[in-house]
Amino acid sequence: MLGQSYFQLLSPLIFLVFSGGFFLMWHTARSLHSLRCFAVSYLFAASAMIGDFLRIAMDPDFASALISALYLAATVFFCAGLYQLYRNRVPWAALAAAAIAVFGAFSLGLYGVRSLTFSAWALNAGIVSLYLGSIFALRSDMREGIHRVLRIVVSVSACLLLVRTAIVFGFGAAMTKANYAGSLAAVTLQLFIAVTALAVAGVLFVMFGMEIVRRLTRTSETDPLTGLLNRRGLENRLSSIINDGPDCDVGYAVVMADIDRFKNVNDTYGHDAGDVIIRAFADLLGEVARECDCVARWGGEEFFIVISNAESASARLYAETVRARWELLRHDCLGGGTVTASFGVTNWRNGQDLSGVSRQADAALYRAKREGRNRVCVYGSESLPGSLAAVVA
Ligand code: GH3
Ligand code: MG
Ligand code: MG
Repeated sequence: MLGQSYFQLLSPLIFLVFSGGFFLMWHTARSLHSLRCFAVSYLFAASAMIGDFLRIAMDPDFASALISALYLAATVFFCAGLYQLYRNRVPWAALAAAAIAVFGAFSLGLYGVRSLTFSAWALNAGIVSLYLGSIFALRSDMREGIHRVLRIVVSVSACLLLVRTAIVFGFGAAMTKANYAGSLAAVTLQLFIAVTALAVAGVLFVMFGMEIVRRLTRTSETDPLTGLLNRRGLENRLSSIINDGPDCDVGYAVVMADIDRFKNVNDTYGHDAGDVIIRAFADLLGEVARECDCVARWGGEEFFIVISNAESASARLYAETVRARWELLRHDCLGGGTVTASFGVTNWRNGQDLSGVSRQADAALYRAKREGRNRVCVYGSESLPGSLAAVVA
């Protein structure tokens, strides 16, 4: 009895920890709304277990009804979590209707037919139907990776619940309310629910943990103003070539772009207009680049673009295209005015690290500024005047 008591206290405690864990995760990533549903689900399950522990101190009929309602609520919120997770929409009315129907059948067994077997079957089969029905409805979204694992774990635990119900209530076992409370059946039921729910919770924790880490990594690598990679994001994206330099199979060229006299934009039209211009320039850089290229905000109004499979000639064509389109672009926030930009281009030589190649691109950019801005300069060669650039574009 003592062992059973310890066990009965341990399970709700673990479930409360899971519930708290889901709430804390939701606090970190509030857009993951399903975490709230899972937190509430595990809270209801913990409450049901505590109710089971206190069952002896309560009126037996009331205890059965209360505990069953709590387990049903845990099931409904778990299924709601799955729908929220995969569809972003919860069929609350359908879930509630199903839960009320199950509870109605359970109550019929308890107060009408007065058969524990009937009410146990009604409750367990109802809970299993809710789980399997939700998994079936969401099967197309739970096909790969950890989602598939979740689908399997939930399905297995639901099926095992049916098997256990069959073992305890299916072979004409003469169970009554009196001998059910505290019986081997009740303890086995609780152990079963604990183990499978722990497995499901474990998978959910891993899944959400991975998602939160992915989001934090993405946030720390993305520039919030432009949505482009920031310098750290660029370094991570190019980590394989950044330290040792590119190998000889794939050619890389680098473009350093800087908006001309941007300080004047801020001073004349305000910082917000300046932000709009930075965003517009970033959009254009991304639009002209190919998918295999890498566009990053280097800092302020300066951008760093890595052109793959290219020599500096292709990179210069890219820069000229952007330059020519940019100088023609009229901006509402500047009263229809235009802005220009300057570009430094260089090859990324074998074995050259990031700071080496960025110094070269910076030197070419500095020359473009010195020679009058609104132009492209290639490291180690003559610059193209703006008029020729227009022809290239
Ligand atoms: P140059 O043609 O030589 O590049 O001149 P510039 O005025 O563009 O260059 P400078 O480096 O003197 O000024 C850059 C300005 O960009 C200064 C800084 O306040 C502004 N700036 C940097 N980051 C942001 C930002 O995120 N938003 C806005 N609005 N301004 C920024
Ligand atoms: Mg500038
Ligand atoms: Mg600058």
